[in-house]
Amino acid sequence: ERSKLKRLKTTRSRTIDGVHVDLLANIELPSDVPDALEAGAEGVGLFRSEFLFLGRGDMPCEDEQFESYRKVARGMGGLPVTIRTFDLGNDKDPHPEETHADRVKTNPALGLRAIRLSLTEPAMFQTQLRAILRASHYGPVKLLIPMLAHAQEIDQTLAAVAQAKSSLRGENVPFDEQMPIGGMIEIPAAALGVGLFLRRLDFLSIGTNDLIQYTLAIDRSDEQVAHLYDPLHPAVLMLLAHTITSADKAGRPVSVCGELAGDVSMTRLLLGMGLRQFSMHPGQLLEVKQRILTSDTSELAPQVRRLLRCEEPARIREQLDKLNGV
Ligand code: PEP
Ligand code: MG
Repeated sequence: ERSKLKRLKTTRSRTIDGVHVDLLANIELPSDVPDALEAGAEGVGLFRSEFLFLGRGDMPCEDEQFESYRKVARGMGGLPVTIRTFDLGNDKDPHPEETHADRVKTNPALGLRAIRLSLTEPAMFQTQLRAILRASHYGPVKLLIPMLAHAQEIDQTLAAVAQAKSSLRGENVPFDEQMPIGGMIEIPAAALGVGLFLRRLDFLSIGTNDLIQYTLAIDRSDEQVAHLYDPLHPAVLMLLAHTITSADKAGRPVSVCGELAGDVSMTRLLLGMGLRQFSMHPGQLLEVKQRILTSDTSELAPQVRRLLRCEEPARIREQLDKLNGV
């Protein structure tokens, strides 16, 4: 079965009705690049840069970060590489020993994490933005910002990028002036207020792991409530469909980079919502491609519209089974 899948590596990921679907890889370290290429990924849709940071107490300096980002950009050989700025805090804690007590007291998932943390650490943020911009000279690099909710956070981020660019210009350091900047949709407020994002950013990436957590108020790492973590909850589906449709209307690329993108039982549902970019663990990529090759978006679109009108979980599952031919 594996070797049959392997043969799909160089097959173009097109649906029966000829729609191209981008299949991208999620990576955590530069050493994951060979896996992404081996799976036939058309780029890196999510480089979780905070993994450069984890497992060590200190922060990698600008040159060290630059080397890591450039390694990925070069390693992907001209394919797009989306680098997400540090998503620190919450489940990815850079200083577990120091903050353990705080974790117990507070709710880290709702606290100072990701872009919120970066914006309160301007020196750390500038270092990372400069490193990413420098890497953009060596391949098509895009910048992705995690956990945005407010227009003001986007504006502050764009100002920080402008500052990093101007300092590099002053030093005659080359970078891509047009480097696209995207935002993650992983908070319900972001999905509902997606217009704020579309007016300010070049692309969107939906982080379903967090989006589901925050929509359903289910801690994604708490096993006691894991049975309530339901990607098919009608509210989750509404937020997904709304985000994808809105991005389409605005002519902005949108991807899903949460675990749902690599879940083959969700592929047709997402295709039917209009999704054309999936970013996932490289190990899932060929299986998802196989599903895409046997799907027809012209049939899926009306079926999914019908599914989205259902509110009863049993009906939703029934319709999903129908999409999947089971
Ligand atoms: C997500 O939230 O879906 C996501 C891709 O980011 P992470 O899993 O790193 O939080
Ligand atoms: Mg996330």
